[in-house]
Amino acid sequence: MTSKVIVVGGGYAGVSAATSLAEQGFQVDLLESRGSLGGRVYSTAPSESFPAPVDNGPHLFMGCYHETLRLFARLNVPGPFHWVDPLGLYWLDPGGKKLSLKCAPLPSPLHLAFGLLTTDAFPFPEKILLARALGVFSKKPFKLPSGMETVAQFLDHSGQGPYSRERFWIPICNAVMNVSPATAPIQGLGEVLKRMFFGSRRDSAVAIAAQPLSGVGFPQVEEFLKTRGGTVSFHEGVQGFNAGSKNFELNTRSGKTYTGDSLIWAVPPSSLSLLWPKGNWPAVEALPRLGKSPILSVHVILSKTVMDEHFAGLPGANFEWVFNRNKNWGWHPAPQNLGGGEGQAQYLSFTASAADKLAKQTEKELVDLALKELKDRCPAARDAQVLHAKVTREMAATFIWNKETDRLRPGPETPFPQVFLAGDWTNTGLPATIEGACLSGHRAAEKVREYLGKNK
Ligand SMILES: Cc1cc2nc3c(=O)[nH]c(=O)nc-3n(C[C@H](O)[C@H](O)[C@H](O)COP(=O)(O)OP(=O)(O)OC[C@H]3O[C@@H](n4cnc5c(N)ncnc54)[C@H](O)[C@@H]3O)c2cc1C
Repeated sequence: MTSKVIVVGGGYAGVSAATSLAEQGFQVDLLESRGSLGGRVYSTAPSESFPAPVDNGPHLFMGCYHETLRLFARLNVPGPFHWVDPLGLYWLDPGGKKLSLKCAPLPSPLHLAFGLLTTDAFPFPEKILLARALGVFSKKPFKLPSGMETVAQFLDHSGQGPYSRERFWIPICNAVMNVSPATAPIQGLGEVLKRMFFGSRRDSAVAIAAQPLSGVGFPQVEEFLKTRGGTVSFHEGVQGFNAGSKNFELNTRSGKTYTGDSLIWAVPPSSLSLLWPKGNWPAVEALPRLGKSPILSVHVILSKTVMDEHFAGLPGANFEWVFNRNKNWGWHPAPQNLGGGEGQAQYLSFTASAADKLAKQTEKELVDLALKELKDRCPAARDAQVLHAKVTREMAATFIWNKETDRLRPGPETPFPQVFLAGDWTNTGLPATIEGACLSGHRAAEKVREYLGKNK
């Protein structure tokens, strides 16, 4: 008889686990509390006040996202990305200068060495120090001096200069870890830098979704599971959970009860700690201490085109990156929707990671700040009018990864042998990213296979 697995939570972690198990012949029922899949990655439709689709925040993918690309290959997602390969980064510097780092079409790490040598983003002595610091992560496994814990300590120890900090380390650390260098573990950032720069050249390429994110992969999941005997149930939030040594029972919002041979929880830690049976597992009771780190995004439609690149860094700004939706998505304005604007309108999305300080500002203050930071760095934007603006706030975008919370990240196993965990917050060795989520989902699926292999 086919084994039945329940997966709770339809973000990247749950979807990776569910589709991997369905592919292997298990019957998978995926329960999701919302009306759509994607979890912390979603898009909203155009509205009267903002006549374009909006992602809850711009997301970048990378060539080293092997587990994520495995998921897309399984779902047969048709070419959803613009690949920036070899890697190219652009910065709009205060005062209006445009800087770049363009890697060469050479094997890794020569591609990066060429990029560092020729970039105008760092003075020569800083290039040498930056190359040396990155070189630490070329070793497998890489070694850090004993007692070194945070990114800030690593930057001091390796003598990083002001330009490489402002243009490279700080924005990369904030974007990847969603925690500032002062607390982010260097081990975690190093793991990402190792995968990014010291695998193949393709691993360091950046991939930008060619359409709003809700359309990338998630629409294929329901059909994928159905054709393999599974189901996806929406608005089916789990509200009660009990388990013994072999069985388990879930009670959902609709009043239904679900059981199966194995269970994967792929929900955020806050949901899991509320639902887990009290007194059964101290690790789950400690999960609220993982904390929450916000990401804020400002989306604007301007009256004119001000940038050509897919995305650019804004050194020293609160909004560290700006994405060009005309180029990313091929978005073009419908003139009747622009309140008098012309056909040259440009849609930009700004993002601020680890944004605790900004979180209390009003929508108007955030839009004004993003615009000011752009205008300081991009002369073409100085006479642009804002035709439409919208702010998205993800107050629990990721957990806060630091020395204390590192110890609180559980692995996939739980005290119940048939119940496993997935989620970007579990102990993957990676930051809370899409790749971490997909890795955790695939790992939990592997654990289910092992368990059912031994127990059926
Ligand atoms: C604004 C923003 C920008 C980001 N940028 C990037 C980026 O550029 N690159 C990158 O790699 N990562 C980025 N991330 C991080 C990335 O989005 C997450 O790491 C990833 O999506 C987490 O996936 P997950 O499956 O672990 O969790 P989630 O996506 O949170 O999925 C959990 C799911 O469980 C469901 N659920 C919760 N409780 C229940 C219940 N009781 N019953 C049933 N279902 C339940 C939820 O509705 C949700 O669908 C960003 C995140 C945000 C918010």
